Amino acid sequence: MSLMWVSLALVLSGILILVASLIPTRRIYRDHAQQPQVMGWYSLFVLIGLFITGYTAYALSLLKQSVSMMEFVLALLLFGGSCFVVLVTRLSLLSIHEVKRIAALERHHALHDELTNLPNRTLLYERLKHVLGYAQQKQRPMVVMIMDLNQFKEVNDTLGHHSGDRLLQQVAPRLKQALRESDTVARLGGDEFAIVLPDTDTTGALPVCSKIVNAMEKPFAIEGHSLKVTASIGIACFPADGDDADSLLQKADVAMYVAKKDNSGFAVYDPERDLHSLNRLMMIGQLHEAIKNNDLVLHYQPIVKLKTNQVWGCEALVRWQHPELGLLDPSEFIPIAEQSGMVKDLTRWVIDSAMHQFKTVTYHDAALCLSINLSVKDIQDAGFVDKLKLLLLKHGMSEKQLRLEITESSMMTDSRRAHEVIGQLHALGVELAIDDFGTGFSSLSYLKQLPAKSIKIDKTFVYDMIEDENDAVIVRSTIDLAHNMGRHVVAEGVENRDTLEILEILGCDYIQGNYISKPMDMDDLNEWIMKRYGIRAEEVRYVTA
Ligand code: C2E
Ligand code: CA
Ligand code: CA
Repeated sequence: MSLMWVSLALVLSGILILVASLIPTRRIYRDHAQQPQVMGWYSLFVLIGLFITGYTAYALSLLKQSVSMMEFVLALLLFGGSCFVVLVTRLSLLSIHEVKRIAALERHHALHDELTNLPNRTLLYERLKHVLGYAQQKQRPMVVMIMDLNQFKEVNDTLGHHSGDRLLQQVAPRLKQALRESDTVARLGGDEFAIVLPDTDTTGALPVCSKIVNAMEKPFAIEGHSLKVTASIGIACFPADGDDADSLLQKADVAMYVAKKDNSGFAVYDPERDLHSLNRLMMIGQLHEAIKNNDLVLHYQPIVKLKTNQVWGCEALVRWQHPELGLLDPSEFIPIAEQSGMVKDLTRWVIDSAMHQFKTVTYHDAALCLSINLSVKDIQDAGFVDKLKLLLLKHGMSEKQLRLEITESSMMTDSRRAHEVIGQLHALGVELAIDDFGTGFSSLSYLKQLPAKSIKIDKTFVYDMIEDENDAVIVRSTIDLAHNMGRHVVAEGVENRDTLEILEILGCDYIQGNYISKPMDMDDLNEWIMKRYGIRAEEVRYVTA
């Protein structure tokens, strides 16, 4: 009797378990409705249904007959079978979910930027094609924008890549907040972002640009520094500027360069300015040739010691005698040289040529010093000091006659190699000067460690110091600070007598600027020195070390 009830209980539990296994099987079957294996899961579903019918028939038969050990063992087996079915279906469902989760994660990784979690270039193209398809079908406009951070390189060079990454991570959510849910913002790489605005035109894009510019206004807190970062945005519109993803992105890129050059925050694509950008690309190739063919020229700007009014030295400033565009200022090609890695060759050319020309500089009461500008790439070049030693030897120039100007931001560079190079230059006995002082993010304690003998106050502070109280305060405190640390101060950008007199009162050591003389070529420099010192042609002496 009791064997019957136990067997019945086992079979009924089996039925319940089988019914329970229908739920995951049905879910899997539904999830795979569009896939080839759907028939397999459907068969399993039907089979479980048949099992339930079989189990029920067996349960009924148990009630009608006396139950022996044989029937009991069969009931036990049926119970085990139902457990097996439920386990298999449940585990299958779990595995399927896990596979789906991994696939979704992989798709996310493949389509998103790891650092900012924004869509990457691939997803951008996917979405852009989708939005473009819609725009073409409905004959509606749409906008593509490229955004680039203006001070990113400086942050990277000054505070290191880690800080650059932190900055990008903070920029991403601000961008997202400034946009609508239906817009796409993607990171293209580096500090470049692309934005897609569906169903809008240039007029609609401008307020979005303002919103982005406003969103960037609040300083970014990066590892204890409060950084102010601005952006340049280029705007291209479908259908006016292109009808496929590539041409719209390219036009937006051109507009972004225009915005950057004009410092205007944002710019709408203008075909007339595109020519200029193409020229810019062409210039990379031409500059390479110009360095090789000696098409660069050097101008020298005198530096005067304020106390004695004597010419102390000259700063060599490079120009490019371009066959079509005329004499180009360094601002028009130094950035290209830096971006394309050509600046190391350019610096070598400048040092070599300046040392060569300096053998013909007119000697008055003391040998003039030669100041040369270095780029951040030079001080990150482990071979730079050896190249310099060779050039000193080649021209028989004393290292004491040379001063290398390194901008504040490149001096602050995080790289160990830059520190080594700066240390080696100091050990060699070359005087170092911190250029463009006041424009970077340097801390005073850090500056104290740098082996620079002098500090050049950036000309932007000097220009306006007569009218602008803030600039005057910066100049005065820089002079005091530098003197307290035992450094000399050079003020550049002195354009008038009043500025010179104030600098004299403030105790500035050296001045440089158009008031003394504009930069000039070696012939004009020699004439200028002769005139200033009343030297006649037959009295001219040269310094040949
Ligand atoms: P910088 O090193 O700050 O050079 C001083 C710049 O200020 C020069 O411009 C000079 O002509 C200008 N300047 C000096 N006094 C006055 C003034 O009283 N009024 C005005 N309005 N301007 C004044 P330049 O020659 O156009 O050079 C610009 C920058 O290009 C330089 O700034 C320097 O950063 C870079 N540069 C020039 N030559 C070289 C070079 O050989 N190598 C490298 N890496 N950079 C160079
Ligand atoms: Ca300089
Ligand atoms: Ca400067």
